[in-house]
Amino acid sequence: MTVHFPFQNSYSALPDSFFARVAPTPVAAPRLIKLNRPLAVQLGLDPDLLETPEGAEILAGKTVPDGADPIAMAYAGHQFGQFVPQLGDGRAILLGEVIDRDGVRRDIQLKGSGPTPFSRRGDGRAALGPVLREYIVSEAMYALGIPTTRSLAAVVTGEHVIRETALPGAVLTRVASSHIRVGTFQFFAVRRDTDAIRRLADHVIARHYPELSGTERPYHALLAGVVARQAELVARWLLVGFIHGVMNTDNSSISGETIDYGPCAFMDAYNPAQVFSSIDEMGRYAYANQPRIALWNLTRLAECLLPLFGEEQDKAVEQAQELLGVFPETFSKAYQAGLRKKVGLFTERDGDEALIQDLLDAMAKNQADFTLTFRRLGDAAGDPAADDARAEFMDPAAFDEWARRWRGRLAAEPQSAAERQTAMNAVNPIFIPRNHRVEAVIQAAVNDDNYAPFEELVTVLAKPFEDQPDYAAYADPPLPDQRVLQTFCGT
Ligand code: AMP
Ligand code: MG
Repeated sequence: MTVHFPFQNSYSALPDSFFARVAPTPVAAPRLIKLNRPLAVQLGLDPDLLETPEGAEILAGKTVPDGADPIAMAYAGHQFGQFVPQLGDGRAILLGEVIDRDGVRRDIQLKGSGPTPFSRRGDGRAALGPVLREYIVSEAMYALGIPTTRSLAAVVTGEHVIRETALPGAVLTRVASSHIRVGTFQFFAVRRDTDAIRRLADHVIARHYPELSGTERPYHALLAGVVARQAELVARWLLVGFIHGVMNTDNSSISGETIDYGPCAFMDAYNPAQVFSSIDEMGRYAYANQPRIALWNLTRLAECLLPLFGEEQDKAVEQAQELLGVFPETFSKAYQAGLRKKVGLFTERDGDEALIQDLLDAMAKNQADFTLTFRRLGDAAGDPAADDARAEFMDPAAFDEWARRWRGRLAAEPQSAAERQTAMNAVNPIFIPRNHRVEAVIQAAVNDDNYAPFEELVTVLAKPFEDQPDYAAYADPPLPDQRVLQTFCGT
């Protein structure tokens, strides 16, 4: 039996300027490290066959499956605010698209599968560490209910990649509802190719915003749609303490999924100014800056769409500004609603926002762990005697004072303590991919070829809202000497 991929490709049917046709470069000795079996089934693939040597060869790019139409996608992008007119898939190849069990079109892409015409000075490869990191964090995001690309598989190539040292090479199979980015539009905008922008916009509408096709002003509606999805996405990030780390326009997805997990990280202690990425020296992509940056990226998208907004450019600019102007409110609504749930409020009242902000301020001042504070707050809601939350604060009295006001507010709602705790536990995870855990997993894999810690971490993170007593230690923040201060792109 050979592995069958039910490909139904649409992007590779777009004009030639949208991509370069290029096959993956075969690797020496592919070995499957991890297959995401439930995702394989969801995509209509046979997980048993993918686990055979032939399957590993496909997932490593050594064999191209029937029906694939391998391409590297063209895109441009603003990297840390600097425009680069040509980036493109320099180390990723889109094998093709499948329609999943829910009828959703999904890209199947190999990342780290060899050079392409967009590789510039890069080798087209990926190191094992960043591949495992993306696997862990993207699947954790999925389990947290946050729109994201998925990870279908990780393979080691049997070859080394040269970074600062020689490292084991690997390939990640990434699944996305598409890999179209703000930078994809920028690629054509900078070339003044309005026909291509229209083709791309039509493709995006049909694929991601089908409800907009046939409406009166579909391109305006498209911008509004992307604005809404990005605003909601970034709110979701903030609500779990996620820092993307490289919110360049080429890493900003049109479908509203989290994409391109490089130096991303979850914060331990709450700090709005937190930055982990070693290359983000100015803190452009700091935790609390993310909404502002998302809007900046969307403004770049709006500029690309202006030619589709009509002949009169002054009017087009005005319309774009109006559509972008909705972002702060959409973001704020999603963020505040999420925060209310995190502190266990079922209703909305004047003063809630200030109450919650006071908690966040106290957390920042007292270096309280973001994840555990909210999770323990759920325990405190369930049982007034449970006082673990206060231990997260350097000065526990700061929590006590806030908690008195909070209990006063909760008393105005009819829900029982148990009901409230259940609701809070469903939005406040206990397990997140903590940096020190991710690092430890990578070290074991890279140095000792030991994947047991990786497997265990992935297992725990698949159920982030469930207390898992056997794995309780995974909830713990790092000890001072375990703290990870910086994360790296590792490209
Ligand atoms: P990223 O920082 O991963 O979003 O990548 C930014 C750009 O650099 C994209 O065009 C990538 O395809 C390209 N790139 C990153 N790493 C490599 C590599 N090892 N070889 C070739 N291109 C790369
Ligand atoms: Mg990228």
